[in-house]
Amino acid sequence: MSNPSKRFVVNASWLITLRWVAVIGQVLTILAVIWILKIEIAATGALAAVIGVTAISNLLLSFWFSRNQPAENPPDITLGLVMVMDMLSLTCLLFATGGPSNPFAFFFFVNLSLCALILNRNWAWALNILSILCFAALLFQHHPISELDFGFALEPIRATGEVTIPQAGLLIAFSTCASVIVYFMTRLTSELRQQELDLRRAQVVQARSEKLEALGTLAAGTAHELATPLSTIAIVARDVEKAFDEHPPEFPGAEDVIEDVHLIRSQLDRCRNILDRMAGQAGQAIGETLSQITVKQLMEEILQELPDRKRISSQFEHEVSNAYVKVPLIGLSQALRGLFQNALDADATGKIQLTVDRVHDRCRWVLEDRGEGMTQEVLQRLSEPFFTTKQPGKGMGLGVFLARNVIERLDGTLQFDSVANQGTTVTFVLPLDNSLPPENDGT
Ligand code: ADP
Ligand code: MG
Repeated sequence: MSNPSKRFVVNASWLITLRWVAVIGQVLTILAVIWILKIEIAATGALAAVIGVTAISNLLLSFWFSRNQPAENPPDITLGLVMVMDMLSLTCLLFATGGPSNPFAFFFFVNLSLCALILNRNWAWALNILSILCFAALLFQHHPISELDFGFALEPIRATGEVTIPQAGLLIAFSTCASVIVYFMTRLTSELRQQELDLRRAQVVQARSEKLEALGTLAAGTAHELATPLSTIAIVARDVEKAFDEHPPEFPGAEDVIEDVHLIRSQLDRCRNILDRMAGQAGQAIGETLSQITVKQLMEEILQELPDRKRISSQFEHEVSNAYVKVPLIGLSQALRGLFQNALDADATGKIQLTVDRVHDRCRWVLEDRGEGMTQEVLQRLSEPFFTTKQPGKGMGLGVFLARNVIERLDGTLQFDSVANQGTTVTFVLPLDNSLPPENDGT
């Protein structure tokens, strides 16, 4: 489970309820044995004390639990110690009431299953060993009850001085059952926890893709709407240009005005090109097929359209530059270019250092700048769409959002470390592709 404090809250309230049930059950059983079955029990005072200690500890636990915000508490140690205590008190109760011949010895298994369910694996195995030791101790010594007499077979080893076959059998059977229960329960719970983690991760990715989809629709709508006023401006500008060509104006500074009109025209053409490219590439990027390329080729693709790329000095570990990745080339290089652009923006003149190396079957890119860095607030918010600290017209706040989206969809990771006024380190990791390179599969 990704949220340990929530797990703790559920577990602790479960445990508290179950312990109350245990206390009531123990009291009722002892009363029934004494009053209805009329069986004589030796140390009733001691038994009452053990049950009392459990009840008091449970009161304290629920009080502590209701007062404390459990979020900051390490859950397993508290619950683990409580469960150790419960196992010891069960052993004490059994010790006074027939030891292994008491049918309630089966409750060891209840305790163990509960441990495996709510504690981590180490605690569960530690408690498993403790339960086996407790059971062996009960075989060794306990107060026999004549009504539970199995004959010589289960008399305390300490009294008889020898281990009988039933005693050895019981210990082996007990140890095996306990270990099997703990083994399967811990496996089951860790699988459940993993599933919950995967589900939560998938939900985050899903939420982000929905945002991205909405963004895509917004961008398409905006591009569509901009097309009309832009073409109107283009027509008007062309008319003005034409009018100036036919009747050159003669007021002072007229040349500058003519130049400005040319500039407006050329900038409009640029806008038109950007919109056209967006329409063309949007389709490609959405349904883009995966290309198998080397890490070095990916880097070249990123740099190709990056102004100011001379300021980036890169260092590729030998093993990784010819390793393959399988990626949507346009979408990924566009997204990564955003990260490189951020580094260049943060440090207007200095060098940006890129190091690429291999970590198991992944390639790790570390991009370092000595620029303005980020405060904690910026670091927390930088993956939100439209979050920017840049001047209007300079940044749209989509770079990191898009990069994270593309990288995480490829099962990669993206991480930012930054100190304000000192610089930023961006680390992203992408899985390498181990299938045959393109020459070998006929493409
Ligand atoms: P934009 O670049 O359009 O502002 P981004 O999503 O690319 O949007 O980045 C969001 C914000 O994160 C930036 O405005 C900037 O404040 C911060 N940022 C990102 N990368 C860096 C960096 N390398 N150094 C300093 N600040 C950064
Ligand atoms: Mg950016």
